[in-house]
Amino acid sequence: MPDAVTMDKIVSLCRRRGFVFPSSEIYGGLGSAYDYGHYGVLLKANVKARWLEAMVQERDDIVALDSAIILHPQVWEASGHVTGFTDPMVDCRTCKKRFRADHLEESRCERKPSKRPGEGPECDLTEARHFNLMFETHVGALEESGSKAYLRPETAQGIFINFKNVAQLARRKPPFGIAQIGKSFRNEITPGNFLFRTREFEQMEMEFFVPPDEAERWYRYWIEERRAWYVRYGISESHLRVREHGAEELSHYSSATSDIEYLFPIGWSELEGVANRGDYDLRAHSEASGTTLEWVDAAAGERYVPHVIEPAGGVDRALLAFVVDAYHEEVVAERERTVLRLHPQLAPVKAAVLPLIAKSAPMVERARTLYEELRRVVSVEYDDGGQIGRRYRRQDEIGTPFALTIDEQTLEDDTVTIRDRDSLAQERISLSQAREHLQDRLAQPWRSPKTG
Ligand code: ATP
Repeated sequence: MPDAVTMDKIVSLCRRRGFVFPSSEIYGGLGSAYDYGHYGVLLKANVKARWLEAMVQERDDIVALDSAIILHPQVWEASGHVTGFTDPMVDCRTCKKRFRADHLEESRCERKPSKRPGEGPECDLTEARHFNLMFETHVGALEESGSKAYLRPETAQGIFINFKNVAQLARRKPPFGIAQIGKSFRNEITPGNFLFRTREFEQMEMEFFVPPDEAERWYRYWIEERRAWYVRYGISESHLRVREHGAEELSHYSSATSDIEYLFPIGWSELEGVANRGDYDLRAHSEASGTTLEWVDAAAGERYVPHVIEPAGGVDRALLAFVVDAYHEEVVAERERTVLRLHPQLAPVKAAVLPLIAKSAPMVERARTLYEELRRVVSVEYDDGGQIGRRYRRQDEIGTPFALTIDEQTLEDDTVTIRDRDSLAQERISLSQAREHLQDRLAQPWRSPKTG
């Protein structure tokens, strides 16, 4: 990476500024589980809002859904997850560590980190066994086998089983899609790399139902559409690539899959998958449930099982990529600064309102009035604590695109300075037009200064 952004730097910034903390910390932490703090919550909400906008609001052919996390257990039998949603796992009898058999090359031996598991003479690996990633639970007061249920490992199945409801109620004809954002749970064997792989995470998935002979075209379309979404919100083109799965890599349901990969500090890794699922899911649920899930147009004499194209991304993984790509260290006027050059539409706080001298009652009063006016339209922060330079640096680190400073001149001529996070340019604008000015600037197209 050109800026030598390391995962440690990202973890430390996220912690320092209250984006993300290790979960259950006062009890010693629960490995690879994280809690989002104030700015993390706002940033994550913005990532989801931009996805919903692009998928639903800006289009005529996709509707939204929010299905339950605990579905009928037969859903997961029909979908193939009970038997097939497994990772191969090996244990080391010597160090008692567990590894993914298909990730041994990238894993490190507990005793000799320079070697991979199985490489050293002391390593004693078991045969690979299949480990199901679904979390089991029980519904109701009795722990009997009839009450067994699963926490969903993906949001997609909640969409397939609602195909009939949505097609009828939303009066949609293929090609049309159903989009859903929500938590998913996987008992990952080796979670890690901060938010990249956790056991509880959020997904943004969309199932696009198409006439079978259009599947290939829509598959290509959605790969490009989703890649472009990451670029639209600030990720450098050179940090994204599309990698098509080989036949041996394909999931049980998929006839073609491409990963949109991002150059994370850990190397190129999946950010989002786009799969051509064929008619696998609708057929499987039709057979298992006895409810035929197909498209019927009596007037046109049409009847077929639509094929499905699925762009499936992770909210947390996308958030991590946006933060990594925005992270920048530079020296300005002999001072180091760390800045998160987040797209203004993603930034948790859009503007900070700062009275230059916190002890000046008239400055504080003007600043509070401006803050009250702005907070009605965008997310803003008021800060009068400490030197102005430190307050700017704090806003730079949380990615606030603009800072409005009330100073002596404001008291004389009712103007304020507006400071641009990226260029550091300061401009004086009239106080009465500050709200309009800010809204205009936020609505303007934005390009990361990194990409020119
Ligand atoms: P991987 O190969 O990384 O395990 P996958 O191919 O199993 O991922 P999908 O089932 O395609 O992942 O899930 C869609 C998206 O959900 C992924 O691209 C990723 O962004 C996100 N995701 C999947 N598993 C996790 C996880 N354990 N933690 C965070 N995000 C995840």
